[in-house]
Amino acid sequence: MGLDITWAVDWVRLSADVIAEHRIELITLDREIGDGDHGENMDRGFQAVLPKLDDLPAGSTPGDVLKLVATTLISTVGGAAGPLYGTAYLKGAVAAGSAASLDGPAIAAVLAAARDGIVLRGKAESGDKTMIDAWTPAVDAAEAAASNGSDAAAVLAAASDAAWAGAEATEPLVARKGRASYLGERSAGHRDPGAQSTALLLQAASDAASASAGA
Ligand code: ADP
Ligand code: MG
Repeated sequence: MGLDITWAVDWVRLSADVIAEHRIELITLDREIGDGDHGENMDRGFQAVLPKLDDLPAGSTPGDVLKLVATTLISTVGGAAGPLYGTAYLKGAVAAGSAASLDGPAIAAVLAAARDGIVLRGKAESGDKTMIDAWTPAVDAAEAAASNGSDAAAVLAAASDAAWAGAEATEPLVARKGRASYLGERSAGHRDPGAQSTALLLQAASDAASASAGA
């Protein structure tokens, strides 16, 4: 089954919930290897999207929702993560196009475009201890699931699981990009906050898809 506007709107609502719920955790992670603003920034951004969902015109597509998230995050989040996530959602929106429903391969393509956007903007490579270390395993898992014929919900479940594993795997890494890189070796032993927020957001995407499938 493909994922439609209901899924996209649910994804944003669940994202706002889960980021609000984990705000302190993200602040704490960012305080350990950054400046402590990641939870606050992300919470501000997703809370700002919520009222705008009600103004989406009838006939809006998942791509329209992703674009709304992108423009809102770019104008409200700030820091490194604002433009990076903004670009991710914008490129994801372009990949989603005007389709009313996204199947497994389309969802994998949206995630790949989002990740490519972050790389284009931030120039991080795998192992640099950034959100890319959650995104790239997620994209790989999504593409593998899609090419095995999994439906959209199963593609997102695979992406979410891989993002969590990727976020956990940032813990021993030494940061080579972003504010955490100023700490050098001292950045090891802490989970990257952007990788953690990526796992939370992809988990929300998967949870929203399970809810759609059960509806
Ligand atoms: P800032 O570092 O400006 O305070 P945030 O705290 O909101 O911004 O976001 C920090 C997160 O941004 C990091 O945990 C990391 O995942 C991500 N990040 C920073 N620089 C890059 C980059 N060049 N490429 C990808 N992700 C990055
Ligand atoms: Mg920060």
